[in-house]
Amino acid sequence: MSNLLFSVRSSSSDEVYTLEAYRTGKGMRFSCTCPAGQVGSSCKHRMALLVGDVSSAIDVDEAAVADLRTMAEGSPILTAIEEIAAAEHEVERAKKALNGAKKRLGKAMMG
Ligand SMILES: [Zn+2]
Repeated sequence: MSNLLFSVRSSSSDEVYTLEAYRTGKGMRFSCTCPAGQVGSSCKHRMALLVGDVSSAIDVDEAAVADLRTMAEGSPILTAIEEIAAAEHEVERAKKALNGAKKRLGKAMMG
């Protein structure tokens, strides 16, 4: 499997970012030219492609998206993405619980 290249549209500007993935000895390297990607953050473009979300991709090559997933298998990447998804779910649940408790408090304080 050679290098995989993807192009994605910025959600906030006309900018187009380039993503490149290739195998390394430890697993894979997956870079993105967006501001977050440049500083080593887990940018949303890479996360999206890894879970098969191609909504912001340009000229999508479905085979390359599948190859990307194969490349990530066995690396800690997919596990980390699953952990993030689970944590985000927990945050949503906690937000709902917090809002519910605040509403009950507000109601209780009305006597
Ligand atoms: Zn990015």
